[in-house]
Amino acid sequence: MSDGEDSADGTSVGGDFVGGRILIHCDLDAFFAAVETLHHGLNPTEPLIIGSDPKDGRGRGIVSTCNYAARKYGIHSAMAISEAWRRCPGKPVGDGTYMQSTRGLYRRASRKVMRILRREADRFEQASVDEAYLDVTESVGGDWDSALRLSGELQQRIMKSVNLSASFGIGPTRILAKMAGEENKPNGIFRILPTDILAFFEGRPPREVPGIGPKSATMLAEWGIEGMDEAHAMGVLGLQRFTSKRFAKWMVAVLEGETSSEVSPLRSRKSVGKEHTFAKDERDPEMVLGRLDSLITEVLARLNDLDVAGRLAEVKIRYQGFETHTHGRSIPVAMDDEGVFQRLGHDLFAHHLDFSRPVRLIGFRIGQLEEPPNRQSTLGRYSEGLL
Ligand SMILES: [Mg+2]
Repeated sequence: MSDGEDSADGTSVGGDFVGGRILIHCDLDAFFAAVETLHHGLNPTEPLIIGSDPKDGRGRGIVSTCNYAARKYGIHSAMAISEAWRRCPGKPVGDGTYMQSTRGLYRRASRKVMRILRREADRFEQASVDEAYLDVTESVGGDWDSALRLSGELQQRIMKSVNLSASFGIGPTRILAKMAGEENKPNGIFRILPTDILAFFEGRPPREVPGIGPKSATMLAEWGIEGMDEAHAMGVLGLQRFTSKRFAKWMVAVLEGETSSEVSPLRSRKSVGKEHTFAKDERDPEMVLGRLDSLITEVLARLNDLDVAGRLAEVKIRYQGFETHTHGRSIPVAMDDEGVFQRLGHDLFAHHLDFSRPVRLIGFRIGQLEEPPNRQSTLGRYSEGLL
């Protein structure tokens, strides 16, 4: 089992507040759909689906993204546009509004938000176009109440300047800040104090923890672990009866708030990636998505061979005419689970693809590689070009 691994020592990261960082995770709510809703003056309670032209249900292509109202129909990013139409037909047959994305709007809004956030952080990491981690330990003087107030102020500032709602999570580690942010979405603020971690995990299913992939979650369920607090009660020795020592230790570290609290700009120097160039420029997003799928499978196989995990996913798209874009998203903890990276890859591709342009090349890369502790340095050998 090698699902989750985290850089070992969160407390060594800068500053005087050894033993406890205060991190804020900010995530814009249904970002792309929210920007389009504002731009076109749409009713936010009606389903909005952005993507390829659905052609009354006969169109090929995929969903780029959708709002919360459309999600209630089970529609999600990278789903075939025809399937989305089947679930929620467009007006006047059904309630859905279908549109192509207004490119350029997203980047502008994102830049404004990131500027607001960056100013208040001791350390800042933009995790994707709509998500960021802030280490605010020094700027709030180690005070959790100030961090809560700061989150509220930032939420209001973002609303005032770009009219977008954002959710904030506050916690002592990357994983906990991220999980806190998921707790009250949309437009929520939630914090997990170091003293409240175990209470937060009480009865909480393992699959909600970033770093526990679908396979590990199933395995834990088979062993009767329904809440993360039960895992804590078993301890490393108990967990080790059915999982690796490494995974057992990591789970207990999550529960004790001892996984990484490092916030740093991403650098994907050490990475594993694959690319595919189409013989003829490809106009069908579903075909490109299919190819991306196999690239992700190949990259994960390579990652597993090297026995490393990564916390940055990048999709590279080159259009006809050689214009190339790379779109990335970082996750709170390094992982090597194929299902997790398939989902990340699909989302990145669907969110960022310019549907109007044929694709020449598609690529996938996992960066921010970390090697599991207590092992031979496979990563070192890899970077020296020996593997
Ligand atoms: Mg978001």
